[in-house]
Amino acid sequence: MSTSKNVVFDVVGTLVGYDHLFAAINARLGDRLRAEGIKPSLLGYTWIEVAEREYTYLSMSGAYKPFGTVFEALFYRTLWMAGIAEPRVWASAEDLEYIMGQYVGLKLRPGAAECVQKLRDAGFTVWCFTAGELQRVGGYFAQAGVDMPAENLISCDERGIGKPDPEAYRPVLEKLVAENEGKTPWFAAGHMWDVAAARRAGFRGAYSSIWEKEPLTELFGDMDVIDDTLPGMADKIIAHHASHSVKAKTPALAPNSTTSFWRTNPHALDSYRSTEALPEECDIVVVGAGYAGVSVTHHILELTRSEGGAAAPSIVILEGRQACSGATGRNGGHLKPDSYNRIATLSDEFGIVAATEVAEFEARHVETLRQIVERENIDCDFTVVDAIDVQISESHARSLKDGYDRLVAAGCGPTRRTKYVGGKEAEAFSGVKGAVACFSYTAGHLWPYKLIMHLLEKAVRQGVNLQTHTQVTSIKEAATSTPHSWLVRTSRGTIRAKKVVVATNGYTSALLPQYRDKIVPVRGTCSRIVAPAGHTGPRLTRTYTIRHNEWNYDYLIPRSDGSIVVGGARPAFIDNPDSWYNVSDDSRVLESAVRYFDDYMQKHFVGWDESHAYTDRVWTGIMGYSSDGLPHVGPVPGHENQWIIGGFTGHGMPQIFLAAEGLAKMVVHGTEFKDTGLPRLFQTTQARLDETKMAISGSIFKPGAAPVAVAKL
Ligand SMILES: Cc1cc2nc3c(=O)[nH]c(=O)nc-3n(C[C@H](O)[C@H](O)[C@H](O)COP(=O)(O)OP(=O)(O)OC[C@H]3O[C@@H](n4cnc5c(N)ncnc54)[C@H](O)[C@@H]3O)c2cc1C
Repeated sequence: MSTSKNVVFDVVGTLVGYDHLFAAINARLGDRLRAEGIKPSLLGYTWIEVAEREYTYLSMSGAYKPFGTVFEALFYRTLWMAGIAEPRVWASAEDLEYIMGQYVGLKLRPGAAECVQKLRDAGFTVWCFTAGELQRVGGYFAQAGVDMPAENLISCDERGIGKPDPEAYRPVLEKLVAENEGKTPWFAAGHMWDVAAARRAGFRGAYSSIWEKEPLTELFGDMDVIDDTLPGMADKIIAHHASHSVKAKTPALAPNSTTSFWRTNPHALDSYRSTEALPEECDIVVVGAGYAGVSVTHHILELTRSEGGAAAPSIVILEGRQACSGATGRNGGHLKPDSYNRIATLSDEFGIVAATEVAEFEARHVETLRQIVERENIDCDFTVVDAIDVQISESHARSLKDGYDRLVAAGCGPTRRTKYVGGKEAEAFSGVKGAVACFSYTAGHLWPYKLIMHLLEKAVRQGVNLQTHTQVTSIKEAATSTPHSWLVRTSRGTIRAKKVVVATNGYTSALLPQYRDKIVPVRGTCSRIVAPAGHTGPRLTRTYTIRHNEWNYDYLIPRSDGSIVVGGARPAFIDNPDSWYNVSDDSRVLESAVRYFDDYMQKHFVGWDESHAYTDRVWTGIMGYSSDGLPHVGPVPGHENQWIIGGFTGHGMPQIFLAAEGLAKMVVHGTEFKDTGLPRLFQTTQARLDETKMAISGSIFKPGAAPVAVAKL
């Protein structure tokens, strides 16, 4: 049985040493080797290293052989390379048989048993992932009296793919992630090539220099943990795990998500596949059929259609679950451009010009979406309204008003169009009890699932191939140079694509590990409030955010059926970060928040006291919080023909549609980011990926409870 803490060990060379093999070579051939000027341990080392190379080459070229077979076969060639003129005369078959017999008797390294025990005592499940044969490797533990259950021993032989091919590690990683609520397991090895490859595949990496002495991080990159000894490495894994218990894991799609109000009547394309089999190749793969993936597709089609359609690319949308079953199908339905809150902090940090770009860009979404909904007659309850942000805390209201004043003075258009109501008037203006200040501006509310499914249906009618329930497991560069430069592996086969757009928001780092800690899955909760038949409150005609203080806020929209969709509930769960931060499981509700909104309207809204309003549905969804609070849009650094659009930090509705338009220009025409009209701050860059500061933590955690830095990957 595994726990949520898992360490996967390499075995031979890591927990098991080579000394016994070297001793056997010395006992059998030592004098003869020394007479030839060959040190027995150097011959042993060379033999092992050459065997590892040939084993890997065979695996890479599709001719996998078990390691022991390769190792034995290379004995005489290694002697030849060491300078023995007639190896098969010089050493007999019995010599080789003797040495191979001793190879089966390799011993655990000093400290190996202690290392395993320390980890088990700290609650870790220990696994082994070996290039060796299971029987031989299992025997090493049995001889040493260390319990290693057969089900925890995994060999590359099972799939015929040798380490360090990333595909060798992936099934082990995926199994452990899936079984452990998305928590990232450790990989521990004494070979830097091994642990570095495992880490690139998505594991956390622990290296012991007990065998190689020189870690060579300048070649292989940083490690999460390095120590000279095996017990020391175990200590550091345990300590690292404890101090990073809220840090990034590999996000995993939960199979049975909670059903949101918006998804109670699924669209005909919800689980649709355009073709029974996956196409073998296409021009563009879009991963993710949420607001971002569908909008990018929409804009690519618009761009190519406006050019006569001659160059219309073949597009395949790969969606791991149902269409629009991610955050877009389970959010608050609030289209709410920021004009003074985060904009003020952006202005302080990046200057008024960059901040105004963001504010103008977000504001444009209301009118742009209104126009498309009207033009295409989209049935999605789209309504343009005044949003009211109600402040309950005097001190928070003051600091927001300061930022607002600075932006107005600096000439930020959207802030100037935002109305401020303070003092005694705030409660009458908003209808919210205890309001001390309000900011009001133009916003919208809608049924996001219906909007996106309309656009998706249109795209499918235009020839886009939609494949739902098709989870992408990796995106790899094709080995040979072909126009289809990306191999997109999925749960149902592989597609070759010229270009790939990753629109997976909170799940991004599962496919692009360089975004681990940069886009973190965060579980949010939404509820629908209704009043029982015969009861009602005053009809709300505006949308609301109620800010109780710096970290506690709720947001709600009124619906034409009299119900209210509301999100937030942060006091119910914020003190338990394990339940929401770094969590990609939307199959469970946040138990502590389920009844949070039951008497919410009565408590906060004037005239609702006798409404008997209560919560009739609760669901969760996964947002993608970026470490600096800004979306990542544009070419993935260092990866030609691969783009990202994600990291919307719970605020995608007024950002995604036009970000997707800009991205489509990059994908179709190769337009440079700076010429797309997108806010400069949205560009994904290597500098943002290298940043270790977690700038956003102050606004999502309670003061003093936040991790302030993220690990450098
Ligand atoms: C509870 C909640 C309330 C919210 N309220 C609001 C709000 O009121 N206003 C607002 O502006 N924003 C809100 N948001 C945020 C907003 O919903 C998101 O910013 C936006 O929907 C993100 O869209 P997306 O397409 O990037 O991501 P998603 O909608 O999550 O789409 C990503 C898609 O990728 C798929 N996918 C992931 N991994 C893979 C893979 N490996 N292979 C194939 N497919 C994959 C997922 O299944 C999913 O369908 C809220 C979010 C939540 C969760």
